[in-house]
Amino acid sequence: MPTEFSIGLQIYIYILVFLFGACLASFITCAADRYVLKQSVLKGRSYCPACGHKLGILDLFPIFSFIFLRGKCRYCGAKIPARCLICELLGGAVYVLILLKFGFSFQSLELALLVPALLGISLIDYDSFEIPNGLVIYCAVLFAAFVASYADPLKRLIYGLIGGAAFGVGTLIIALIMDKVLKRDSLGGGDIKLLGAVGLFTGPWRGLFMLILACIIGLVFGLITQKKSNGQFPFGPAICIATYIALLVGQDVIDLYLSLFV
Ligand SMILES: [Zn+2]
Repeated sequence: MPTEFSIGLQIYIYILVFLFGACLASFITCAADRYVLKQSVLKGRSYCPACGHKLGILDLFPIFSFIFLRGKCRYCGAKIPARCLICELLGGAVYVLILLKFGFSFQSLELALLVPALLGISLIDYDSFEIPNGLVIYCAVLFAAFVASYADPLKRLIYGLIGGAAFGVGTLIIALIMDKVLKRDSLGGGDIKLLGAVGLFTGPWRGLFMLILACIIGLVFGLITQKKSNGQFPFGPAICIATYIALLVGQDVIDLYLSLFV
């Protein structure tokens, strides 16, 4: 954020960025629901899934609508899933964190454009154990599109390709060995493709931090959701959450860790 901006203006920009992130997350949550239900993602107005009533602007305003409607549909009283509110709050918070960390830069824009894809992947994988190829390809294209905006594009490209190969091909080999040992599917094909795609953004070292974090989050997540999913659990949301933590603070954590040894 430019230092000549007054505190008031800075707060105003952060509020706008938060609301924009929340609106985008709200849209992605709705689009992911429609994708899972095999409905058209972009066409048609939003409606209540319980009573089918078309929703107006007062029903769709992120966060505030949920609070003022007390988490219920205005027309039929059906509960609005709490995850709508959680995703909107997370979307707003992630956008503010990106701006705090990287300011007005191409890197911020790149990370902001990655949010909708990873949020969509998380929700769709959570609901249907499926990671759409289109969203994984979007991530790879986004990486390629922003390579030239870095101070050292060649370094960015090489680190990205190493990260993509390490976490895409690397996990594929581990998964194939695990499949043989466990005699069942250990890691989904979608998870492997997703790890390859986010590996492009993290590179090898932050990627390692991401993978460790994803396993911990996945384990906790798996234990919580164990009962209702008979052993199967979506790994995509854990990978996406871990990726954002790694992209925002991964380098600081690695620097802190390495400083312990010198
Ligand atoms: Zn309703």
